[in-house]
Amino acid sequence: MMRAMQLDRPGAPLRMVERPLPEPGPGELLIEIAACGICRTDLHIADGDLPGPLPIIPGHEIVGRVAKLGPNLTPLPLGEREGPAAERREGEGSAFALGDRVGVPWLGRTCGHCPYCRAQRENLCDDPLFTGFTRDGGFASHCIADARYCFPIPDAFGDVEAAPLLCAGLIGWRAFEMAGEGEALGLYGFGAAAHILAQVAAARGRRVHAFTRTGDEAGQAFARSLGCASAQGSDAAPREPLDAAIIFAPDGALVPQALKHVKKGGRVVCGGIHMSDIPSFPYADLWGERAILSVANLTRADGEEFLAVAAETKVKTKTTVFPLEQANEALDLLRAGKIEGAAVLVP
Ligand SMILES: [Zn+2]
Ligand SMILES: [Zn+2]
Repeated sequence: MMRAMQLDRPGAPLRMVERPLPEPGPGELLIEIAACGICRTDLHIADGDLPGPLPIIPGHEIVGRVAKLGPNLTPLPLGEREGPAAERREGEGSAFALGDRVGVPWLGRTCGHCPYCRAQRENLCDDPLFTGFTRDGGFASHCIADARYCFPIPDAFGDVEAAPLLCAGLIGWRAFEMAGEGEALGLYGFGAAAHILAQVAAARGRRVHAFTRTGDEAGQAFARSLGCASAQGSDAAPREPLDAAIIFAPDGALVPQALKHVKKGGRVVCGGIHMSDIPSFPYADLWGERAILSVANLTRADGEEFLAVAAETKVKTKTTVFPLEQANEALDLLRAGKIEGAAVLVP
């Protein structure tokens, strides 16, 4: 049997359910879950900001071990499992064997033939499956995942530590790459994603300016402790003009606010899947080739690149662990902004 915290309808608390262990289909893995991070997207799904199929088991920052391979999967020989990711994507076999540690991200499957997939932009696939949103995810003891979309996890990270890397880390990395090369980088909203990206950006010589909820002294001290050059309330001006800003908080009012502090040619990158409406602002604030962009999902290439970067940077994730049964309490704390770093569920 498997246990899971299931969402029956938006706004209702998740409910503990037990069901028979699912069988992996062709190309799939059954994974015994060791840890699953909680992402703000899970909150948007639970609260009904992002309507999807129901009932659903949320969770898309999954670390676990392969418990069973689908009927057509034969593990590659040990030596070859370390090889290029392309083998895992296109090969007949699986890059994983029984007992291997894997990470399951938000991108659960893509169609492989739409114009976006063919253009190496699978994050924008027209017919995707998303873990914990359109297919059952990791707030559970077990899950099923498509082997081609799972990642090996670097040995440097424990199960709990690694979980937040799989979305907060990855999406932060994609947003960072879209933000450009400038040295002065603003991060609006200092939660799971920003606390990882701040470490990566500072290690690359960027001056990171963190913006938290106004008056959140503890959050600002936390940001400084991770290498941020400054930390202040989101309504304050940074101490230098920004080359780029990344917004992780779901507050649309931060977009024009950040734009005011970005230099000519700079970018404001929105890293969340859902935001409140963006208030109107004078065109003069956008003029000068400033740009506002959103980051959507991830590609497998992003994941492979980022996990290597995270290990090389020796990223330390700050986590608060909750037993699976306490998923609702953890979501409430996240909603209230009371989690420093990332919340992680352990079955
Ligand atoms: Zn596609
Ligand atoms: Zn996420």
